Amino acid sequence: MNYISTRDARLTNESVSAACAIKRGLAINGGLYMPRRIPQLEEGELASFLPLSYEALAAKVIAKYLTDFTEEELLSYAGLAYSPDRFPEGAIALSPEIGGQFFIELWHGPTCAFKDMALQLMPRLLAASLKKTAEHRTAVILVATSGDTGKAALEGFSGVDGVKIQVFYPKGGVSRVQELQMVTQEGGNVKVSAVEGNFDTAQTELKRIFIDKEFAKTVRESEAILTSANSINFGRLVPQVVYYVYSYLELVRCGRVSLGSPVDVCVPTGNFGNILAAYMAKRMGVPFRRFICASNQNNVLTDFIRTGHYTKKRDFHLTISPSMDILVSSNLERLLYLIAGDEKVRLWMRALRETGEYTVDPETLAALQSEFSGYFCGETETKETIRRTFDSFGYLIDTHTAVAANCAEQYRRETGGDLPILTASTASPFKFAAAVYEALTGEHTDDALKALDLLAARAGRPIPAPLAACTKKPVRFTETVTTDGMRPSIAEFIR
Ligand SMILES: *Cc1c(COP(=O)(O)O)cnc(C)c1O
Repeated sequence: MNYISTRDARLTNESVSAACAIKRGLAINGGLYMPRRIPQLEEGELASFLPLSYEALAAKVIAKYLTDFTEEELLSYAGLAYSPDRFPEGAIALSPEIGGQFFIELWHGPTCAFKDMALQLMPRLLAASLKKTAEHRTAVILVATSGDTGKAALEGFSGVDGVKIQVFYPKGGVSRVQELQMVTQEGGNVKVSAVEGNFDTAQTELKRIFIDKEFAKTVRESEAILTSANSINFGRLVPQVVYYVYSYLELVRCGRVSLGSPVDVCVPTGNFGNILAAYMAKRMGVPFRRFICASNQNNVLTDFIRTGHYTKKRDFHLTISPSMDILVSSNLERLLYLIAGDEKVRLWMRALRETGEYTVDPETLAALQSEFSGYFCGETETKETIRRTFDSFGYLIDTHTAVAANCAEQYRRETGGDLPILTASTASPFKFAAAVYEALTGEHTDDALKALDLLAARAGRPIPAPLAACTKKPVRFTETVTTDGMRPSIAEFIR
């Protein structure tokens, strides 16, 4: 199956293999790659998945998308990616039912955030894609991160042959633990730089760098090719579809729903990758009814889903859920492509670039609203949700997951929602220890490392090993650049 651009594929006539789409990251005309059609589960296939291990399911689901990879090959990558030394507690865990919600804990990997689910597998897909496309140049992965992608990508790509990785994070826009995790990263093929500005400034500049003809020369002279490990890369997205299929099957296995009965899904959303993966699972045939798109105070998606008008011309807020502090949500483009088609998407994305906003037509809005609900949750409510969930259920959630939990509650209240809700739990509470500790106790601490100990004592749980470790490692990276300084910094790194 071939991959085409979300922005009117006919204009550039670009149709490439999965391996090529993963290698390139971004389509030639600036759009995102999508498979020509979403593969379908066959009659009885979901039932046949019930006995499968996580790795076996991953191989089966991903093979439907990446048709130039064999199932055996994918099974060996998945076996390595989700192995017990990386996921000692298993790939994912489902919480007990809490007020009608089941939390899918996606953070039992090496960096304690859900990004590991994709970024432990994707480097293997990329390395294989380079081979499959007979690529001899060095693949340089450039990542803009709002905090969690950066570390997960560094961890996934460190030491991978034929690959270099440079991560840009917004100075002051990530938690202290997130920053420490990144600037202490080991490995000879990695670089980490802080950027003045916020995540959107860094991501927008990176997108420009990818299509900059002048800079492309520098890259060619260094015998390198640029690619992306952000969720604009399809190789990042497809591993995420797997855990939605798996967690639905978990609900069936534990007897909460019968096979084929619908459930709702709630996802704390930033760049729209995670919730899009859930939607793709539905398009394949998993019985999901409605998607609750949960935002923090940066509620650009809530407004869009409610009105059809997208505008990034608004105040940007730094919140206690920094991985969702995003105003330009890249993967929304893929959803719009799926429901409205590539010709419309091209026009909307041009309007977004040129005017900072766009409005979809009434049919598109109706289609969107038939499956998506948008809610958001402010800072006070986020903290209150963390405290209430812990006090009432003894269940500790991080700030991002709390945004989702609160939005799921709003949805249930407003709609009288009757179905169980699968809520994506996207980070370990320890990754945002200071904010979580303050939510529980009302006590503020500026010392993020002390907060780890305080939270462990308060919650009666140990600090996850990977987080405890990063506080003891030496800092390797101290560079801060402006957006104009990103090109020279990359040039120096790839030389
Ligand atoms: C990245 C991230 C999100 C947002 O996910 P998207 O796929 O960008 O929508 C939410 N929570 C956490 C903890 C994250 O790291």
